[in-house]
Amino acid sequence: MRTLITNGHIVTAIADYAGDILIDGEKITAIGLPGAFASLQADTVFDAQGNYVFPGAIDVHTHMELPLPTTVASDDFETGTIAAACGGTTTILDFANQQRGHTLAEALQAWHDKADGKAVIDYGFHITITDLAAAPETAMDEMITAGVTTFKLLMAYPGTFMVDDETMYRVMRRSAKIGGLVMVHAENGIVIDLLVREAVAAGHTAPGFHALTRPSILEGEATQRAITLAAYAEAPLYIVHVSCAHSLRAVAAARTRGLPVWGETCPQYLYLNDSHYAAPGFAGAKFVCTPPMRSVADNEALWLGLQQRELQVVSTDHAPFNFASQKELGLHDFTKIPNGLPGVEHRVMLLYEGVRTGKLALQHFVDLVATTPARLFGLYPRKGTIAPGSDADLVIWNPERSMTISAATQHQRVDYTPYEGMQVQGVPDTVLLRGQTIVQNGEYVGGKGGGKYLPRATFSEQLM
Ligand SMILES: [Zn+2]
Repeated sequence: MRTLITNGHIVTAIADYAGDILIDGEKITAIGLPGAFASLQADTVFDAQGNYVFPGAIDVHTHMELPLPTTVASDDFETGTIAAACGGTTTILDFANQQRGHTLAEALQAWHDKADGKAVIDYGFHITITDLAAAPETAMDEMITAGVTTFKLLMAYPGTFMVDDETMYRVMRRSAKIGGLVMVHAENGIVIDLLVREAVAAGHTAPGFHALTRPSILEGEATQRAITLAAYAEAPLYIVHVSCAHSLRAVAAARTRGLPVWGETCPQYLYLNDSHYAAPGFAGAKFVCTPPMRSVADNEALWLGLQQRELQVVSTDHAPFNFASQKELGLHDFTKIPNGLPGVEHRVMLLYEGVRTGKLALQHFVDLVATTPARLFGLYPRKGTIAPGSDADLVIWNPERSMTISAATQHQRVDYTPYEGMQVQGVPDTVLLRGQTIVQNGEYVGGKGGGKYLPRATFSEQLM
């Protein structure tokens, strides 16, 4: 099967130019000047005149079908990856969470079972470590062999996900030795837990108290602590969902010192702020996620952090829960509101607004949503760029077409979107996954379960 994309404006993290792309089977086989392949017979030809051609975007932070003690995230690997595809994302990395008392291999198998045969785009896993007593750090070596080269630690949620400093240090030390990358959710879970208990005892149960009990300074403290421990362990470190200036400053200072530290943020921390918690009735619950929405000044600091390349990745932390049946579990107690927001479908369009409004250069935008995610997470150059030999994961992007984000028209399986009514200009028109057309005119046209598991290279194998 030979496919040709003609007349496109090809954009990678390091170049943009007019060119044609030749695809044979699942791979890009050649790139030439416009018209270079006119004499070849192609089975399918896309005329990308007036459009951009981007590498398929990579979302390195999703939680499809995430089980919480009281409920499960509403998107599974099928609905969630269809939504991702419609938004121009062709690869996700999801978190396989070790349950306390269980092994890492059990966690990984559980997530393979959720994704296998359902995901419609390619996928890989990180492993979340919660209990070294059940799985000593040498078990991390088996994960590397299985292609799971990134280890997540949470400093929040005591009693379920939170690990102590000893565990963090031991995981970091092992990860450094075996070439892995440690990812940290940085919040001071112990102090937050006290603030939460005090709020509930005082009768403060409305959604807004979710944010008030998780102050940004405690994210900054935990970020610095993670950086300090990783520096001592000589471990590369990736801070997930940087939401505020406090933690941004810690990441930036570490990078200035030359430490191997990277930072991620998400569209909700760029576009949404803590005023949403004052929405009438219980509607503030739609914005309950962790870390919470911060101030407008934090939004601005994060945009600047992207512009100055202090942050290197924009992901989503996609973890959708229906407002009507799931968020309402916390109607009388904010601590029972499932934490998480939908976002996998709209990330690329939302960040493209940064290009349209002059905040980000086009190549930088591609770097944030595709290229650096591929490089940091062991997928480059198979994914994350447009080059001969790379997978033909491509997005033909219409920069003129506008769309209003709405729950009524989204593909995410959830009854709301935190971006309801927001207008974006610039949307995916056609999306190819390994040469197969999976989205056309913005609608999913692929088959069932066409996504493949991606074993990933280790951080140390990947040139950085
Ligand atoms: Zn997350």
